[in-house]
Amino acid sequence: METAADAPTPSVRIPDGVSPVVLPTPFGVGDVNLWLVESSPLTLVDAGPATALALETLERGLAERGHRVEDLERIVLTHHHADHFGLAGQLVRRSGAEVHAFGGIAGWLGDVGRRSRQEMRFVEERLVRHGLPQEVALGARAADAMVRGYFEAVEVTHPLAEGDVLAFEDREWHVHHRPGHSTSDTVFHDREARALVGGDHLLAHVSSNALISEPLNAAEEAADPTLRLTPLRDYRASLARTREMDLDVVLGGHGVPVTDHRALIDERSAATERRLTRIVDEIAAGHETAFDIARAMWGRTAYVQVHLVMSEVLGHLELLEGDGRIAADEVDGVLRLREV
Ligand SMILES: [Zn+2]
Repeated sequence: METAADAPTPSVRIPDGVSPVVLPTPFGVGDVNLWLVESSPLTLVDAGPATALALETLERGLAERGHRVEDLERIVLTHHHADHFGLAGQLVRRSGAEVHAFGGIAGWLGDVGRRSRQEMRFVEERLVRHGLPQEVALGARAADAMVRGYFEAVEVTHPLAEGDVLAFEDREWHVHHRPGHSTSDTVFHDREARALVGGDHLLAHVSSNALISEPLNAAEEAADPTLRLTPLRDYRASLARTREMDLDVVLGGHGVPVTDHRALIDERSAATERRLTRIVDEIAAGHETAFDIARAMWGRTAYVQVHLVMSEVLGHLELLEGDGRIAADEVDGVLRLREV
């Protein structure tokens, strides 16, 4: 069978008037793609991290196309990660641009200092319950504080919802909520151009992590302590919806565009299945907590990229538990896993 790697690179059909502005980030993921739509209104998808180098690079990218930051009329955010929205506040102060983002995250974006710290505590509490040692949790706090230096609050002037349409003078984008990588992941579908602006929902060269975060509706969580964090389950459901779409290209937040989204989604699903089996094997081998599994599978990365690795493990554990393949017993405040 021919795999994506063997196939000749198909020509990428990026819609007219749309082009990437690639900015450096201080994060492991590397560069981030912003997508400029030279139409009316002049629209920028995502804003990059709040660093001087990212801002300079953006200014240069806009100048090459005959624009300035001050000309921006609309900023559209794909999700609430620092590498995607960090600079938005600064850009708005200079341009007065509208800010469109998923409505459920508007409160978070408008009050990021407080909300991101609250979210960190929410996540930490759950990780400790899954066997994360306190001293590792402290290290993760430091990493979190570092990330918080790369964004500032921004007011969402236009909260978006599933089914909305973003209008341009020469095209329209249909708005879809695709939670998983983050709770706010939003994709924009240009049906006529058969193109999807996808943020980090589906990336060509790295699989998008389904990160644990505070549920969008914190009140709901408080009312129902049994409510599960299901980032990976949400992500799989979101990918299934994207798989149904007829697309020639997905313009992502990192790396090159995706030209065969169905093959890539199938590849990602197969990788998830393999990892589920591996995790059951690790539990059978006597690794009792999620952190034990993280350490067994990722080694020192489990200490350095705590949030990422633990999200990966917990997402898979929830799927396994949902399928009745594993169970957890709470002993001294820590969840111990066993095969069923
Ligand atoms: Zn992201």
